[in-house]
Amino acid sequence: MPTLFEKIVAREIPADIVFQDDRVTAFRDIHPRAPVHLLIVPNKAIATANDIADADETLVGHMFTVARDLARGAGIADSGYRLIINCNRDGGQEVFHLHVHLVGGAPLGPMLSR
Ligand code: AMP
Repeated sequence: MPTLFEKIVAREIPADIVFQDDRVTAFRDIHPRAPVHLLIVPNKAIATANDIADADETLVGHMFTVARDLARGAGIADSGYRLIINCNRDGGQEVFHLHVHLVGGAPLGPMLSR
């Protein structure tokens, strides 16, 4: 079964895609938690951070350089932003297709609620 995000990558279900190349796709989170909230996903399915293979190092690095460029494009590079990867139950992962959240555009407060 393709993941929800594989369907977005393949444009089988709608999403507000802001960037796509042969390795990654970035789109707006459907429930934004900040003025800027993008998800950067590998085009191929990797379920969780635990499933990143050594051979995926370049791909995962590319996810971060794309996130950097999207932050610049959104005008939040200097004000700052947060990159988040949730993993499994305790990490609060809901969609089991690796993704980096890029959130910013407002002060985000402490990293974790106390
Ligand atoms: P996580 O908890 O890290 O797995 O985050 C999954 C994220 O995917 C959440 O922030 C959701 O709001 C987001 N999301 C779920 N479905 C969609 C969708 N169809 N399009 C865009 N974002 C989605």
